[in-house]
Amino acid sequence: MLSRVNGLHAGSIVGVLKSRLDSALRGVDDHSDHPTMFCHHEMEARDVTKDSMAPPGWSGCGAVSAFDQAPVINRVETFSREFVAFVRVSASDGTGGWGQVSPYHADISAQVLHRQVVPWALGQPASDIAALVSSIPEHEHKFPGSYLRRALAGLETALWDRAGKIQQKSVCELLGGTPGPIRAYGSSMRRDITAQAEAERLVALRQQFGFDAFKFRVGAECGHDVDQWPGRSEEIVPKVRRALGPDVSLLVDGNGGFSPSRAITLGQMLEDEGVEHFEEPCLYWELEQTREVTQALSLDVTGGEQDCDLATWRRMVEMPAVDIVQPDVCYVGGMLRAMKVAKMAQLQGLPCTPHCANLSMVTLFTMHLLRAIPNAGKYLEFSIEGPEYYPWQEGLFVESPFTVNEGQVTVSDKPGWGVEIHPDWLADTTYQVSELPH
Ligand SMILES: [Mg+2]
Repeated sequence: MLSRVNGLHAGSIVGVLKSRLDSALRGVDDHSDHPTMFCHHEMEARDVTKDSMAPPGWSGCGAVSAFDQAPVINRVETFSREFVAFVRVSASDGTGGWGQVSPYHADISAQVLHRQVVPWALGQPASDIAALVSSIPEHEHKFPGSYLRRALAGLETALWDRAGKIQQKSVCELLGGTPGPIRAYGSSMRRDITAQAEAERLVALRQQFGFDAFKFRVGAECGHDVDQWPGRSEEIVPKVRRALGPDVSLLVDGNGGFSPSRAITLGQMLEDEGVEHFEEPCLYWELEQTREVTQALSLDVTGGEQDCDLATWRRMVEMPAVDIVQPDVCYVGGMLRAMKVAKMAQLQGLPCTPHCANLSMVTLFTMHLLRAIPNAGKYLEFSIEGPEYYPWQEGLFVESPFTVNEGQVTVSDKPGWGVEIHPDWLADTTYQVSELPH
C-alpha cells in the first residue's frame, strides 16, 4: 500500500483558492440575475462556446460568498488496477463520494490525478464542481491531452456522487433529468469473430435480453482500407441483417478503418441493408474526411469518442463533421464537459449518443447523462462482452446497476450514482492518497 501526503503547503493553497474564487466569480457573472443559484434553464440560454462553464440544475453550488465557509476537498484516494481505478473524494465536513477515472491504463490516469489534478482541488469548495472543471485544464494548460481529462473525470464524477448523497438525489436529477428507463443497444467489441458467429450470438442476446438494436464491427482499427480479413465487412452486414430480421436497428463501427472513398462505397451497402449508424468511418482526427463521408451518405455518420478537446468539439459540431456526436464521459473529462459537448450539438440540431464501451462506471455515468440532456440519442451503448473477453470488468460493484429488461436499463433514484463499489475489489488494488495536512 502506498500512502503519501500531498506536498502543497499553506501558502500555495491560499494562492490556489484565490485563483479558484476568481474563476467562480467569472461563472457567476454570467448569471448576474441569480447570483445564488444556477439553474438548468439558465444554461439553456448560455453560449456554451465560452470557456467558463455553468453547473446545470445544481442548486447546491450556492453563492460565491458561501464558499468561504463551504466544506472543502480535503482528501482524494484512488484504488487502482490497470484497467479500472476508482476515486474517493472526501470533504472537510465528512461527506464524500465515489467516481472513476477513465478505464484503460487507469493506474496511469490515477497517477496523473494525484500529480496534476488534485493539487488544484485540495482546499477548494467541494460543491463548486463547475469551477474546478473549468479551472484545472487552464492550470495545466501545457498538458492539453487525454490523460489529464481522463484523470479529471475521476475527481468530477466523485464530486457528483458526493453532491447527490448530500441532496439525496440521483446525479441525473442534479443535472436536470429524471431517473427511469433507457433503451440500450447491444454493442459488440469484437473483430476476431466470424460473421456467422457474430450473427448467432446477437440473435441469442436478443432472445435473452430483448435488445432491439445492435452494433457490430466493420473494417479494422485504423486499417487504411485493409479489412480484418478479406471480405469480412461485406459478409457480416447482410449476415447479421438476415439473422435479426428487418425490425432490429443495426449500427456499425469502423474505428477509423477507411478512406473517405472506401467508406462511402461501404456506406452505400450499409444503407441498402438498413444500417442506421456508421461510426468513425475515417481516422477520427481527420475531421474533413469524416465530413466528406457524412455529406455523401444519408445514414447517420457518427463519431467523437476519442475527442477530449472542447475547441475540436466546437469545430466538429460547426462543420458539422458528423450527424451524431459521441463524447465519452470519461475520455472528455466528466459529466459537465460531456454536457457541454451535448449542448453544442443541441444548438446545431445534432443528437448525442455517447460512447461507453464497457461495464465499468462509464456506462452508469452515461445512463445518468442520457436521462438529463434534451438531445439524447435513441439508445445507450451497452457492451455485450462478458468475462471471457473483458475479465477486468467483473466484480466491480456490490450490486450491478446494469440489469437489462426488455432491452432497457434503468437509472435508479438512489442518491448519487446509486452504486456501491465492491470492498473485495477495492482490497486488491494499489492505494494512493493525497490530502491536506491535518
Ligand atoms: Mg466506437
